[in-house]
Amino acid sequence: MWRGLGRPESPKIAAVLIAGNWKMFKGAHEARSFTTRIRNLPVRTPGVDVVVCPAFAALQGALEGLGSDSAVRVYAQSVHWEIEGAYTGEVSAPMLLELGASGAIVGHSERRQLFGETDDTVRRRAECALEAGLAVIACVGETETEREAGKTEGVLARQVSFVPAHEHLVLAYEPVWAIGTGKTAGPDVAQETHAYIRSLHPAPILYGGSVKPENAAALLAQPDVDGALVGGASLDPASFEAVCLVAAEIVAA
Ligand code: PEP
Repeated sequence: MWRGLGRPESPKIAAVLIAGNWKMFKGAHEARSFTTRIRNLPVRTPGVDVVVCPAFAALQGALEGLGSDSAVRVYAQSVHWEIEGAYTGEVSAPMLLELGASGAIVGHSERRQLFGETDDTVRRRAECALEAGLAVIACVGETETEREAGKTEGVLARQVSFVPAHEHLVLAYEPVWAIGTGKTAGPDVAQETHAYIRSLHPAPILYGGSVKPENAAALLAQPDVDGALVGGASLDPASFEAVCLVAAEIVAA
């Protein structure tokens, strides 16, 4: 069990991390209603670090819904590798910190596949964010073709080699074939792959790929699964809460 990531200055507690990736869903209004509903969720989920990752335009709304005393944290879905500059359409780490965001995802497979993200830009984004004081969730994962060709370990080794080691960085293993498809790496495959990643990098490792309340317990019970990055099932407050409650049961067991 890893020692949870708080805001960089917060004390560490034994914890699992459950992060909801809202992708390009939920504007500011919906984000505010959602977080208003879950602002006290951590009281019912001891040992679980709860994170939501809204689109840039909904960060402020999500933070407003949480108010000043919620333990739920808000991460962006990406962050630029420079502090400022002529980078139209990008958002920097200091801008996120000024809003009150605590961290950022980097290297999500949708960024890699659809927006030209490379191992090197993932590294640069992660390094800049960490240096600025944000926590980071760095995503890695193989495609179905790569897995079928027996290239999973090579792909992961290459991707992980670009991810800096830092006390405020966690990895997310997200097999691309399991994202948004309803296919999940079974607990055994998840465990085996996490153990391999663990041999390469010291960070805690979240599993991501069609995690739902029904399969979360089996995945989170694996010794090298330190939490979950949840896409589709994080869009509905009831199912996101259910995943967090399952995680709390695992922590308490
Ligand atoms: C994700 O987008 O990070 C993700 C894991 O999505 P889903 O849970 O919908 O597969």
